[in-house]
Amino acid sequence: MNPTPVTSGVGAVASDALGFTKVADLIRGRSGGRPQRRAALPGQGDGVELPGGRGSPTVGVLALQGGVQEHVRLLQELGARTVLVRVPADLEGADGPRVDALVLPGGESSTIDRLLRSFGTFEPLRRAIADGVPTLGTCAGLVLLAREVLDAAPGQRSLGVLDVAVRRNAFGPQLDSAEVDLATTLGPARVAFIRAPRVEAAGPQVEVLARRGQGIVAVRQGAVTGVAFHPELTGEPLFHRRLLATRRG
Ligand code: GLN
Repeated sequence: MNPTPVTSGVGAVASDALGFTKVADLIRGRSGGRPQRRAALPGQGDGVELPGGRGSPTVGVLALQGGVQEHVRLLQELGARTVLVRVPADLEGADGPRVDALVLPGGESSTIDRLLRSFGTFEPLRRAIADGVPTLGTCAGLVLLAREVLDAAPGQRSLGVLDVAVRRNAFGPQLDSAEVDLATTLGPARVAFIRAPRVEAAGPQVEVLARRGQGIVAVRQGAVTGVAFHPELTGEPLFHRRLLATRRG
């Protein structure tokens, strides 16, 4: 792992809850244009199953706050259809479930939690994930998935569908934001950490996918994967590709 500061000012940019696209631009600017795709796309040799059997899977990206567009772009590049999820009807209609998989993006977990509850989406989302819809949570998305948030904002709740306890903003100011080459059990991944949480405790059903130093930063439990970082900001397709290949639990 070679932590490299994204830029000296990224902490300030990232502290703007809506600043994720700006951070992505900074990362791109530094590496000169579009990020390199480092892994094969679905259909190029890894036997990706398309959930639902309708050609391409439909992935619901939770779009209440935070970094939505980078996930949408990456998923579409990998051959998925995307829908933005805000209200319960985006998840399930009279015709049945509307998504084959879900992405919970980064942002500010306490804000996303508040908006989920005020839109009435908290419980339907929890139920969809608990019922087995393959789900990837990144950064604040990992916090939302967790059973326990160790330093939650006042009144903050989490979905409790991943048996981990997480600590928000766990890497301290110096390692606050960085682009990192990470060794994961799924393969190498270049990802961005932005005020990242860390998994401090994990239940027996939870598989550790990656650590940064001693800290657990990526986990999987059945069809639910939570990562403390942002693969979508570096264009790293590893986790999204896995999501599209995951069968309903
Ligand atoms: N620190 C934020 C939170 O606790 C997460 C930051 C992020 O998603 N990049 O919600």
